[in-house]
Amino acid sequence: MGSLTVPACVSTVLLDIEGTTTPITFVKEILFPYIQDNVKEYLENHWQEEECQEDVRHLRLQAEKDCELDGFVPIPMNQTEVQQIIQGVVDNVHWQMSLDRKTTALKQLQGHMWRAAYASGQVKGEVYADVVPALRKWKEAGKKLYIFSSGSVEAQKLLFGYSIEGDLLEYFQGHFDTTVGLKVESESYRKIADHIGCSTENILFLTDITREAEAAEEAGMTVALVVRPGNAALTDEEKGNYPLITSFEQITLHPVQ
Ligand SMILES: [Mg+2]
Repeated sequence: MGSLTVPACVSTVLLDIEGTTTPITFVKEILFPYIQDNVKEYLENHWQEEECQEDVRHLRLQAEKDCELDGFVPIPMNQTEVQQIIQGVVDNVHWQMSLDRKTTALKQLQGHMWRAAYASGQVKGEVYADVVPALRKWKEAGKKLYIFSSGSVEAQKLLFGYSIEGDLLEYFQGHFDTTVGLKVESESYRKIADHIGCSTENILFLTDITREAEAAEEAGMTVALVVRPGNAALTDEEKGNYPLITSFEQITLHPVQ
């Protein structure tokens, strides 16, 4: 592990988020607990808003489909007292989250809650200390910077727009999520290069996940595996197959001519 000199043809850096720019624990230990701890208060404060009613309507439709599942928590009908409906929604959200479900209805409410939490400063996106200095340096060297994460583009923009180091969105030319394809599929990386308007050979992809690195490399990108505290341990074979870095400081990029 040490310094990594990237081929001169690399003009663009594509970054993963979790385990790369941001501790892998951020989502599990900050974002998800935020929902569990605040869903009741959020519903009480936003109940009169159209968006909140729409979220509840979608959760109720989902609940109708879920009624056969183990431990199912129903949401009372609209004729019921508001406090009882809210409690039903709270219990249903906790139940879905305890099963790590990713229903559209749940994700929609979570997205709206996170947006409010970031905007009010209750939640701030975490980035490792070496990230912003590197982004600044790469930008000054004329590199283009993009994000590719399985979190939605909207969630990515919140994390970087309201980060512990302020608004970082100015550093990025664009964001990709899994609407372009899965992160473990080479085709996704070819499509990203097409969207950016360059060859995959012009792109350096940084990630903590070997299967993603493999897919990007197969598509023709230069890759490095990022080793951060709390990331899943790499096998000796994985360590041998890819350049490893523990900090973005270790990357040397040639200035764009
Ligand atoms: Mg990752």
